[in-house]
Amino acid sequence: MTLLVAINNPMDVLMDETILWSSIIGQNDAIDRILRSLRSEEGSHAWLFVGPRGVGKWTTAKVMAAALNCQENGCGRCVSCGKIMREIHPDIFLIEPEGNFIHIETIRDLLQSVSRKNYEGKIKVIIIDEADRFTPEAANALLKNLEEPPVDVVFVLVSSNPEAVLPTIISRCRQVQFRPIPAQEMISFLVNKYDLGYDEAALATRLSGGILGAAVSFATSHSKRERRKTVLGIARSADRADLARLSFIAEELIREIKKPLDELKAAHKKEIAELKEQYDAKDAPVRTIKRIEQRQKRELGKEEHQGFEDVLSILTSWFRDIILLKETGREDLLTNQDHILAVKEHVDLFSSEDMNRCLQIIEETRQYSRFNVNMQLAFEDMLFRIHDVLAVESDPYFVP
Ligand SMILES: [Zn+2]
Repeated sequence: MTLLVAINNPMDVLMDETILWSSIIGQNDAIDRILRSLRSEEGSHAWLFVGPRGVGKWTTAKVMAAALNCQENGCGRCVSCGKIMREIHPDIFLIEPEGNFIHIETIRDLLQSVSRKNYEGKIKVIIIDEADRFTPEAANALLKNLEEPPVDVVFVLVSSNPEAVLPTIISRCRQVQFRPIPAQEMISFLVNKYDLGYDEAALATRLSGGILGAAVSFATSHSKRERRKTVLGIARSADRADLARLSFIAEELIREIKKPLDELKAAHKKEIAELKEQYDAKDAPVRTIKRIEQRQKRELGKEEHQGFEDVLSILTSWFRDIILLKETGREDLLTNQDHILAVKEHVDLFSSEDMNRCLQIIEETRQYSRFNVNMQLAFEDMLFRIHDVLAVESDPYFVP
């Protein structure tokens, strides 16, 4: 049972282990620190969540907002919890950089909205992602509010790059450190929640780079599993690829990036349709739908960028596996556990030096991608250079 608490200000909240809190995995220390602080007298009106990308900082910020506004400390079932977790609650503000920065206009608009009375929530929560990207003017405008926020307002700043957060911001916030999610916890979570076999869950975990969202989407997305097969196939035959076909292969890689976007678009469409069904057609919630569409647009952008990163990570995993097996002989260290035979076949064909050169080329491609280059050209160039390193006159061991 959870406690029913009347909330006058955020410090009065008494927390219990509720559905939403227990849905965050691998962050016991962080959650413990947050809950203890929320229970204690001091509480806090300004938080800074730091730690690697994709380990649950943003989700935890939303759960905290839900808990502060829920009769049952984050039941996950009431209207308020539902709206907050879907990012459509009118009293919860979600801020992200536009382009490279969080600008003064954004903060001014935000502070104006915050000064109005609440629509339906008890506590306004402002969640700011990439809190290391304020322009100096924006940071200044925010600072005073961080110092003396209105009593019913809580700020949660999030950053995976805490070295770049301004010291004046850090000093005004209660800092909570998030850690990489332990592999075993991620595997158990995937097995229990998504009904996967152990090997499948372990593979998704290994490929995720510690990012839970990446592990879940790999485990549950057909097109992402297919993508990995295709990309590994391309890596395996990189030494034998016909030069004239490299641009087709680059096109194939681009197609692999785009495919999961269709899945996401379909899910988005469904979400909007379900929402419209919930309401009468005559008072369709235009504002709510607009907010959902904005969030969906952000998600699509992120997914596309992630697709590019994923393709490069899959290529990296292939060449790194060959080096690892070559130098350690240990199969258990390999990422591509389901392709051990193929890795073995390649171990004697190439030198570690060549493999390292390929890794470097892939890393350089990843760096270029920050400058909004044409992806097709970037892939073509990468494939051409890898081919150049690996191509041999004839290969008697070749097994297609
Ligand atoms: Zn609730």
